[in-house]
Order: sequence, then structure tokens, then C-alpha cells
Amino acid sequence: MNCAEFQEALPYIIDSGGDAEHKAHLRSCLVCSDLVADLKYIADQAKLLVPMEDPPKRVWTGIQRSLEREGSRAAGHRGRILKFRRAGIWSL
Ligand SMILES: [Zn+2]
Repeated sequence: MNCAEFQEALPYIIDSGGDAEHKAHLRSCLVCSDLVADLKYIADQAKLLVPMEDPPKRVWTGIQRSLEREGSRAAGHRGRILKFRRAGIWSL
């Protein structure tokens, strides 16, 4: 078995560990054993990243609070504009 044949079977080798021929090539070939080690490392790191996609509840609570603050500030600003408008109409 050569490197090209080995690397062609990589998805199967990663999933199942490969057959005796793959294992023999893996032991004898530094290029392919490095490649498999890298792929396994990447796969492990990717698994660690999955829980990070869902931020903790306090993050959502923080976002909600800051939106509420923004919202009330904007509402206060709109309220002031309305008061000025009314004042303008009243002064006419
Ligand atoms: Zn190889």
C-alpha cells in the first residue's frame, strides 16, 4: 500500500481505525501517521468547540438587559422630541 491508497481510504480509516494493511502503512509511514494524528487532533478540537456555540444563559440575559436599557433610552429620547413638538405647536 502506498500513501495515495492510504489517504484515499482516510475517511474509512478515521471512522473504523482501518484494516491490517492500513495499520501497517500507518506504522511504517511518518507522512501518513502525521496526517492521521493531525486529523484526529482537529476532530477532537472541533468536538470541544460544539458546546461553545450555545452561550451560557447569562449571556442571553445580559444581551436582553442591554437591549432593554437601549430601548428605554430610545423611548426617553422619543418622549422628549414629542414634548418639544407639542411645545412648538402650543406656542404657535
Ligand atoms: Zn504514507
